[in-house]
Amino acid sequence: MDTSRSYAEKLDKQDPLAKWRKEFYIPEREILGLDGKKSVKPIHYFEGNSLGLMSTYAEKGIQNEINLWKTLTSRNSDVGDQTREYQAKLVGADPDEVIMAAGATINIHVLISTFYQPEGKRTKVLADELNFPSDLYALWGQIRLKGEDPDENLVLVKSRDGKTIEEDDIIAAMDDTVSVCFLPSVYFTSGQLLDIERLTKAAHEHGIKIGFDCCHSIGIVPHYFDKWGVDFALWCNYKYMNGGSGAIAGLYVNKRHFGTMPGMPGWWGNSWSNRFDFETNFKPAENAEAWFVGNPSNFAQAPVYGSSKMVDEAGIENIRKKSLKITRYLMDLVDAELTGEPYNYTVGNPRAPERRGGHVALMHPEGQRLNLALSNRGVLADFRPPTTIRLTPVPLYTSYVEVWECVQHLKQAIDNREYENYSKDQHQYV
Ligand SMILES: *Cc1c(COP(=O)(O)O)cnc(C)c1O
Repeated sequence: MDTSRSYAEKLDKQDPLAKWRKEFYIPEREILGLDGKKSVKPIHYFEGNSLGLMSTYAEKGIQNEINLWKTLTSRNSDVGDQTREYQAKLVGADPDEVIMAAGATINIHVLISTFYQPEGKRTKVLADELNFPSDLYALWGQIRLKGEDPDENLVLVKSRDGKTIEEDDIIAAMDDTVSVCFLPSVYFTSGQLLDIERLTKAAHEHGIKIGFDCCHSIGIVPHYFDKWGVDFALWCNYKYMNGGSGAIAGLYVNKRHFGTMPGMPGWWGNSWSNRFDFETNFKPAENAEAWFVGNPSNFAQAPVYGSSKMVDEAGIENIRKKSLKITRYLMDLVDAELTGEPYNYTVGNPRAPERRGGHVALMHPEGQRLNLALSNRGVLADFRPPTTIRLTPVPLYTSYVEVWECVQHLKQAIDNREYENYSKDQHQYV
């Protein structure tokens, strides 16, 4: 392992995606540098798995929509259809199977209300204990709305190590009491990537419908929903998709379910053929549009249109390739420089490329306070209890030199015991 800075510089020179960095707005602020001095410099942004940076593409998308509104042509805007096309490509689907709608959690409600239909002894929803809590709240609520008891019917597969879930354990829990299985593609803390194809096949062998929350994989991992036969899926667009805080989300329904009555109908889901006839009976659209509730905001779609176009131009396969390489580089540096006394950092995510998403889960008993010390050094990462610092090199804007510098900052924060300057009660977002 070459731990020199010049090696990182060499990797940057060879990086085919390096040209995209200049399309992003990277804020500057006063930071404590590796030379021990404070100065105003661009931050090292390692939180793109949580909230991506703004790009010129997203900005242009918004500007364009503003101009359309000024000239009252916004009703004719095709930003929705264009965004769907880009996003359908990203998830391996037909544009007919994808809509841009609402937010991730709302789309879980929309989809589970449709596909969870308890019948006879098939009354259970199969999920797992490591999913993002919002997803579990939505499942819990949907089970109650169907008049079933969540204590009995929400089955959570347990983690063996507190970080990952074994596919074998999920499959072992698939039986004829399960109606729907709902899982994340990538775990938000450990970064584990599930084998979607294998799980989908197993679910179908047991007569179970299966859906995935792809918030942590969209824009960083390629998806092939049609090929895999996934029943339904949803994702948000503000993480690796860089669509802006709370950006409009995506929703996918496999075409074999077209015609199924949506659980939460609304006028925008009515068939286009008579959507404006305002009839009292709901007639679902012939494709995934049936799962629209109200009409989606053009302004919410505009930045996602821009950033989806950018991901399309850069190529999702190229993005995945750099992501695996740069996260591997980060893990190798951690192994070489940050393990053992006095540093004691460990890598908490799975190591195999096919088992990991886009972030590195760095673990340290002082993770919370170290993350605050890192922020003072202009390295923005995020902390997830109890000990994980999530570090995300984003292929479109993170350089290898930034990763190298991040590791030096992690080292100096321990050398100088900087975490001791922070209180254990201090929250990251104050
Ligand atoms: C980010 C994320 C969400 C966010 O939900 P919103 O409704 O967009 O606020 C939900 N689930 C998972 C798994 C996520 O990673």
